[in-house]
Amino acid sequence: MAILPIYPYDAAVLREETREIAGPSAELTQLIINMFETMDKANGVGLAANQVGEGKSLFVIDLRPVDGYEDSKPLVFINPVITDLWGEEIGYEEGCLSVPNVREEILRPEKLHIKFRDANFEPRELEVDDFLARVIQHEQDHLEGIFFTDYLRGLRKRLLIPVLKKIRAGEADADYDMATKVEFAD
Ligand code: ZN
Repeated sequence: MAILPIYPYDAAVLREETREIAGPSAELTQLIINMFETMDKANGVGLAANQVGEGKSLFVIDLRPVDGYEDSKPLVFINPVITDLWGEEIGYEEGCLSVPNVREEILRPEKLHIKFRDANFEPRELEVDDFLARVIQHEQDHLEGIFFTDYLRGLRKRLLIPVLKKIRAGEADADYDMATKVEFAD
């Protein structure tokens, strides 16, 4: 197992669309194990592969540290596609391991349907709501080059610009390893 450094806000790999994964491999299994380990150490509940510098269509979720989700199972989403989003738009304060110490309320639909492959590369689909639906939408956004902060407008966005610049400059004060020598998107 290995703890991987987390890529920061605006890293090129986090602004590009990720590539579909062709099939199962020992390398993929190792990446998944390392991603769970990295996420756990950083106290995250979701992590996309491009957050550890791998431009692949994959994210992992483990909600067990969250109140009310102690009995949930860790989930692996390979080549995920959200096929439907519905329900009320709910506001909730989100954070992101690539954007340390920033929390912002973001509106998202409360329910979704998703198709994906699991850790054994078996096709699966799930209908989910509530907090899991939120984390899935946040992680799916990563695979498409989107940060939660992209949804902010007006004053909230302007106030955040200097903070995001500091993170880009490698001055984020995270209590886990962030990647250095990162190539950034323009
Ligand atoms: Zn994130």
